[in-house]
Amino acid sequence: MTTVFKFGGASIKDADAIRHLTPLIEQHGDRPLVVVVSAMGKTTNKLEALLAAARSEGGTQGDEYRQCFKALQADHHEVLEALLGGSPDAPSERIDVLFEELDAQHRKHRDGPHAKHYDQTVCYGELLSTTIVAAWLNHHGIATEWHDARKLVRTDACHQAANLDWPATLDNIRERLSHSDRVALTQGFIGGTEQGEATTLGREGSDFSAAIFAHCLEAREVVIWKDVTGLFNADPRRFDNAVQLERISYAEATELAWHGAKVIHPKTLGPLQEKSIPLTVRSFETPDAEPTVIDAERRFDAEVPSCILREDQVWLEVRPRDFAFMDEPRQHDILGRLVEAGLHANLVDSGAMRFALCLDNKPERLDPLVESLQADYEVSREDDLTLLTVRHPRQGMMDTLGEGREALAERRNATTSQRLFHSRDCPTTWRIPGLQAE
Ligand code: ADP
Ligand code: ASP
Ligand code: MG
Repeated sequence: MTTVFKFGGASIKDADAIRHLTPLIEQHGDRPLVVVVSAMGKTTNKLEALLAAARSEGGTQGDEYRQCFKALQADHHEVLEALLGGSPDAPSERIDVLFEELDAQHRKHRDGPHAKHYDQTVCYGELLSTTIVAAWLNHHGIATEWHDARKLVRTDACHQAANLDWPATLDNIRERLSHSDRVALTQGFIGGTEQGEATTLGREGSDFSAAIFAHCLEAREVVIWKDVTGLFNADPRRFDNAVQLERISYAEATELAWHGAKVIHPKTLGPLQEKSIPLTVRSFETPDAEPTVIDAERRFDAEVPSCILREDQVWLEVRPRDFAFMDEPRQHDILGRLVEAGLHANLVDSGAMRFALCLDNKPERLDPLVESLQADYEVSREDDLTLLTVRHPRQGMMDTLGEGREALAERRNATTSQRLFHSRDCPTTWRIPGLQAE
């Protein structure tokens, strides 16, 4: 039975990191093994900056674009040189061809729609990283086959948030990956339309890609290799007494991811749950450390409370101009505009004459939304906010976490409490009340 491994940006951030992942693959002798890889380190952010430069006034001839482009090219060649310098196995020419293609895509799409331009160019992060990793593994004696995910993961043309064409994806993946006795190495995050255009599945989407491959191949297990030993009950970088969760259910992991736990993409668990494929979150730095297992078992979900921070939030309060109620037709109108803008409300609150929403600050989507709402409603906006969500809070916990901080909004149900604070009132490092430090 197939196993799927997923390596994120941190696990391949430089030549040393790529060397370190070799034994993890080597030690897994069973085939088929599908390895899904993200872009190296922060490459996707750099490709987004390159895109902005390409669309700016100077365009692809401007200094900013040229500098960004050269720096990216140099970074990739540097890693390749460190891994395979002087070896005939080094795919230097292929890397140059990919950069030429990237440049050509920018020239072709810079005056076209942003989302399509994004997908035709940002996908190169994964195409480059997988080219390097495949060459390294083969050089190292691990027979590896490079697959182009744009031809396997079939999607619609909803750029930057593409929707899967599951039947076509299933056929493609089963046909090309089912029987390989070599490591099948492919890109996370990216897919392609029937017409051959690149698409992307949303930032941090490589986890979802791993789940897509696992689902299609009815894999035995997915292992996501991270720079943490597993899934914690809060981001260990932000909560000094966060503890690792040994085992939680698909449903609970989806809740955590949906509320903003930036460790797994929220769409990952659905395809795995359907086929009862367990997901193991494991450390690439300390692979022997006890991992977190996510499967159907719900018994342990409420054992410890989990805290999630969403930063850079915006609070919009929308009021009628005519002393009329903010009733269902108006809520429907506002939420309809939200859908059109491609935004998601992280918290909603309503009253007779107000409808309020907490949103991620994505200016290219949020600004047009605010403008459209202002045409018909009174709109007030508060920026620089932090949304704290606690799953399974214990008695009094929210009050302790909120002590000394004004809450702009609150929401509570049987399993989840949320409070919205000014970021300036929030600490850099939080502490979960009532939990011992590790
Ligand atoms: P990848 O390399 O796969 O993209 P990410 O950077 O997306 O990895 O995810 C790992 C990071 O997620 C960790 O470094 C950690 O700071 C952060 N993180 C946020 N919330 C959690 C959580 N609940 N448990 C573990 N890590 C978390
Ligand atoms: N490289 C993409 C990103 O940084 C996808 C991923 O890493 O999951 O968002
Ligand atoms: Mg990630």
